Amino acid sequence: MFDNLTDKLSKSIQKIRGQANLSEDNVKEALREVRVALLEADVALPVVKSFIEDVKTRALGKEVMTSLKPAQVMVKVVQEELIKVLGESTEGINFNAQPPVVILMAGLQGAGKTTTTGKLAKYLQERENKKVMVVSADVYRPAAIEQLQTVAEQVGATWFPSSVVDDPVTIGMTALQAAKKGYFDVLIVDTAGRLAVDDAMMKEIKSLQNTISPTETLFVVDAMTGQDAANTAKAFSDALDLTGVVLTKIDGDARGGAALSVKTITGKPIKFQGVGEKMEALEPFHPDRIASSILG
Ligand code: GDP
Repeated sequence: MFDNLTDKLSKSIQKIRGQANLSEDNVKEALREVRVALLEADVALPVVKSFIEDVKTRALGKEVMTSLKPAQVMVKVVQEELIKVLGESTEGINFNAQPPVVILMAGLQGAGKTTTTGKLAKYLQERENKKVMVVSADVYRPAAIEQLQTVAEQVGATWFPSSVVDDPVTIGMTALQAAKKGYFDVLIVDTAGRLAVDDAMMKEIKSLQNTISPTETLFVVDAMTGQDAANTAKAFSDALDLTGVVLTKIDGDARGGAALSVKTITGKPIKFQGVGEKMEALEPFHPDRIASSILG
């Protein structure tokens, strides 16, 4: 997904790499190119600004300018700052809680919540050996409840029935009781999404969060929406206590702007990435690997 960005960044960094000494002008010129590359990758403007500022301060500081190999140190600085933006290390689901660990899925309609609920159930069953129950608290679209049932059958997770005549909080509480009674390790609660952020939706999911006290509240976001992903991320993270992000549709995202924006905007790690429509197309997100690949 970062092909273009990788290309451009490694070219600007390559120019620096070739220099025996670095002047302030060299640094500024390289940073101008880095800035353009990030903007073309559709990284959110505030993220670009703070990234460039941080790199600049360090690059023009003692650490780089007085080192014996300023070019190499500058490259290292860019890499470290990229890791800061993307996240330091891979973070999975937090299992330091009394089971069932409740995972609440939040995000706009079409972001990939229901698909990711199925993928995550499969992942946790197969990779972490967990017993997983899923439930849909989407009381607006009967089709959404059926879609989750289909997905659950596909991955062999237990589907807890819900209905559009119930309210999401009751659905959440009933499913939680059932998950406790059945000694499930994990309960994933899929929620309704709207086409745009609205107050009623936020209130509803907030009260669901307050009643079922999830260990994880994952914000699911379509990577292909680029900068818009950053705006949606801001709205959700202002309204809800998020614990992490799942970036979906990475397979269709050529630019990488969302990946580089959401962690800084929400302050929460990207935990997983969706890389296709199939149930096995979910992977842990490895920020350090991406940072190295971006610099080539
Ligand atoms: P929801 O409204 O948030 O529950 O979204 P859905 O789970 O229904 O997903 C919307 C569409 O996105 C479906 O067609 C999914 O197959 C597709 N989708 C979800 N995740 C991915 C992904 O990682 N890659 C691709 N290519 N498609 C995805």
